[in-house]
Amino acid sequence: MSTRDHLGSCHCGAVRFACAIDWSRGTSRCNCSVCAKSRFWKAVTPSAVFRLLSGEEALAQYRFGRGEIVHHFCRHCGVKPFGTGAHPALGGPFHAVNVACLDDLDPEALAALPVTFEDGRHDRWDVAPGVTRHL
Ligand SMILES: [Zn+2]
Repeated sequence: MSTRDHLGSCHCGAVRFACAIDWSRGTSRCNCSVCAKSRFWKAVTPSAVFRLLSGEEALAQYRFGRGEIVHHFCRHCGVKPFGTGAHPALGGPFHAVNVACLDDLDPEALAALPVTFEDGRHDRWDVAPGVTRHL
């Protein structure tokens, strides 16, 4: 599976989005303090191919630490459909899309996605943490 267009939403449906995702880049889970608590599962895609369809007024923002990543969550249902940031190594402005918020992938397709683990807790994004089963 390479680049495909997808539709996604938060739980209550206030926030809806469309995006293209290059699945050859894989997906990732991270052990940083916020990803671990929310069990966030992400696919990173350029912001240029992400479009918010509805729910701008429903979105609230959360930042912590250096505040470089903006965590966008629905103020009604609490689900975080995506985070945003900008990093040269990731090709500039990006959306980290919550894979679990995509509405057009069936369980078999989700289960087949490759997952890379990142030791975000120690700012080592290219190294897997020693233990990953809980992420
Ligand atoms: Zn919602």
